[in-house]
Amino acid sequence: MLSHWLEWTLDDKTPSRRTGTFASGAYQLIAPGVLALTPEDISDNARACVFSAAIHGNETAPVELLGQWLCALEAGAAKLHAPVLVILGNIPALKAQTRFVETNLNRLFERGLDRQGFEADRARELMQIVDAFFERYAALPRLHYDLHTAIRQSRYPRFVVEPFSTTVTEAEQWAWLAGADMQAILHQHQPSFTFSHYSRHYHQAQAFTFELGRVAPFGQNDLAALAPMGALLAALGAGETPQSGGALPHFRVEHELKRQNEAFTLCFDEDVSNFTRFEPGTVLARDGEAGDFTVGSTPLHVVFPNAHVELGARAALLVVPADDAAPA
Ligand SMILES: [Zn+2]
Repeated sequence: MLSHWLEWTLDDKTPSRRTGTFASGAYQLIAPGVLALTPEDISDNARACVFSAAIHGNETAPVELLGQWLCALEAGAAKLHAPVLVILGNIPALKAQTRFVETNLNRLFERGLDRQGFEADRARELMQIVDAFFERYAALPRLHYDLHTAIRQSRYPRFVVEPFSTTVTEAEQWAWLAGADMQAILHQHQPSFTFSHYSRHYHQAQAFTFELGRVAPFGQNDLAALAPMGALLAALGAGETPQSGGALPHFRVEHELKRQNEAFTLCFDEDVSNFTRFEPGTVLARDGEAGDFTVGSTPLHVVFPNAHVELGARAALLVVPADDAAPA
């Protein structure tokens, strides 16, 4: 069943049984696209783990990565010694190979959300499921890895966004991320209602948003580059201590470029890579209301640029190296 779950979910096929067992544990389908895995034995080092993917429907590499791990669990090649919740966020968008149906799901994970619509309903359902999962395993440390791929190329194809929160990241997390071959860390500068922020803010989980390469359709992802990330997920699922790596470059947000006016342009190529560096004096944006934005005395790196956002929304993050945030 585990090895077929992804295909069945995409085909709207209901498995004949919603629960079952495999060599090292049991599974339960608790909602569409949500699989709870319960180990026979919980190891001493286990964390309550949430692994989510396809919060944006066209980001398929993480879905394939989780699929590989589920197959290995079913075959007995991987072991389960920690409770894990596997979540596929936006199934209709995943089927349609689009980022979302009505709106960006990864801005809606806020308690008391009063918006209507498909993504808002799904956000409420997932928040309630995550709450129940962490409550069930209240004695265990909490962890949530939300797995994405980026729209554009990047100077660091695999990077990790640390949500803004009062919950401090443990030093071992930085070492594990490096061990999983992540290439850079970006520290958020303010709260944003992403799924990983939800688990960090409301549940004090060690939670991150991962950008694992570039968006591609099923079957066209470079899974070999993600093998160390797959090993990190497998180690957490097995309740083992993951592989550690050395220090990674850290960046922090220096400025958030917002679109204020209909007349708004970014002054660089549409397909510029994430983390591209711009030197002092470079004009980065022209806005009918806010005027020009020019790089000051410190070079700035551009991340997640998008000129076509709604008025008042983020058109780019401008980031700088943050040596002080490097792991001790
Ligand atoms: Zn995404």
